[in-house]
Amino acid sequence: MARRRTGLVFDERCFGHRNPPGGPPWLAIPPFERPERLAATFRALEGSGILRHVERLPARSAPRAALELVHDASHVERVLAEPRATLRLDHEAWIGPGSATAALLAVGGTLEAVAGVVAGDVDNAFVLARPPGHHAEAARPMGFCLLNATAVAARWAQLARGATRVAILDWDVHHGNGTEGIFRDDASVLTISLHQEGLYPPGTGGLDASGEAIVNVPLPAGTGDAGYELAFERVVEPAVRAFAPDLLLIGAGQDAAASDPLGRMAVTVPGFRSWAERAVALAEECCGGRLVAFLEGGYSLRHLPAANLAILEVLAGLPPSFEDDPVGCDVPTGVREIERAAVEAAA
Ligand SMILES: [Zn+2]
Repeated sequence: MARRRTGLVFDERCFGHRNPPGGPPWLAIPPFERPERLAATFRALEGSGILRHVERLPARSAPRAALELVHDASHVERVLAEPRATLRLDHEAWIGPGSATAALLAVGGTLEAVAGVVAGDVDNAFVLARPPGHHAEAARPMGFCLLNATAVAARWAQLARGATRVAILDWDVHHGNGTEGIFRDDASVLTISLHQEGLYPPGTGGLDASGEAIVNVPLPAGTGDAGYELAFERVVEPAVRAFAPDLLLIGAGQDAAASDPLGRMAVTVPGFRSWAERAVALAEECCGGRLVAFLEGGYSLRHLPAANLAILEVLAGLPPSFEDDPVGCDVPTGVREIERAAVEAAA
């Protein structure tokens, strides 16, 4: 296995963004998108010893001008408002006292990662930050997302770092509507979204999406490792090869995991490892290995830390800390006919 120089962006200031609990306060239902997602991930990275083998990259605040490459100025103004108490901006989108700092670091960290990869300081990088970004549209925050980090990074890579064609592969279980919409009329940015059909947002992510370079792969609930493998082979890999990007960005949301509370898929940690291996191989084939992954969703505190660790190990070319899925959900194996049909419809 070839060792690679892998950058890691992680900054505890991203813990400061807080979403409100569900229901009445006395029920104390924790929000899905919460700081513990990152804290538990970092404990897993520490415990595994991988931090000795990756290069920490700084998360700097993204400059406003970069945000406005893809977002309306009024949108940027709204999400960076820093209210004294939690404020609901839109559907499942809240801001509070620490939100602007976290959101700016999540995007700025992604820019640092792209800069490092394009300059050749590192071969690839993983940005472990929050809030996530892929639902955020040009003028609207939604679905836990305030600023669309991969979209900003793609455009910034083109304007500031000489990338011509950028591919964004979004494997979060939800449709990457924000990213798709931002680049709908732009043939220089390919957006691919693998997601559970009809999940979130309602009414988007179908095969009928019109645009210059859009690939949607809606998959039926219950799809596991084997169904996703088929989708990579039949749709994702041919699409990226045909597009021939000079930078590959991954919207790495780990909420297709079998234990995730927000998705109904059946992916295991070896499944995520395989996706990362395929992504690394694609980047090596198409664009000199230049790959930056950004954490989107992933809400199972059982699966998320292990999946993030497995992905980082693959990026760095390290042997896996564990072979099997340490969570041990009962999952279906094999490919069902409805999965095969869904993949062929997208191919
Ligand atoms: Zn998601």
